[in-house]
Amino acid sequence: MNDCIFCKIIKGEIPSNTIYEDETIKVMMDINPKTNGHLLVLPKEHYENLLTIDDNVLSKIIVYTREAYPMLNEKLGSQGLTLVNNNGEGQDVKHFHLHLIPRYVGEKIDMESSNNLSEIDEIYNKLMD
Ligand code: AMP
Repeated sequence: MNDCIFCKIIKGEIPSNTIYEDETIKVMMDINPKTNGHLLVLPKEHYENLLTIDDNVLSKIIVYTREAYPMLNEKLGSQGLTLVNNNGEGQDVKHFHLHLIPRYVGEKIDMESSNNLSEIDEIYNKLMD
């Protein structure tokens, strides 16, 4: 879609910190993370939300997420993973995406703000190491 920011990122028109991509999905760092290592998994094709995304594409997103979970724990020292998927009200970007939010012992998350986090580039380098 022409006016979709995630489609522009996928086409390379807007930069992103991409940590994985294949022919179907792209995984990038959220620009406004809720915890260190907050990622977004998105389909390369434009689907608005959970109701319209193709079953096979959704399956690839979930399988990637399952593989990423121990990788995040290992590389970032997180001890859990919270998945968030907004649809309709509460969804700012109308291109399906799954939030992968690493969780750390003793740290609560506030979905309305981000506090005391590392620089995104520092986390990106850990993930790409
Ligand atoms: P949602 O409310 O589920 O639609 O969340 C959209 C998410 O996209 C938010 O967490 C934003 O921080 C994130 N976001 C918006 N623009 C960008 C961007 N250019 N690169 C990375 N993440 C972005």
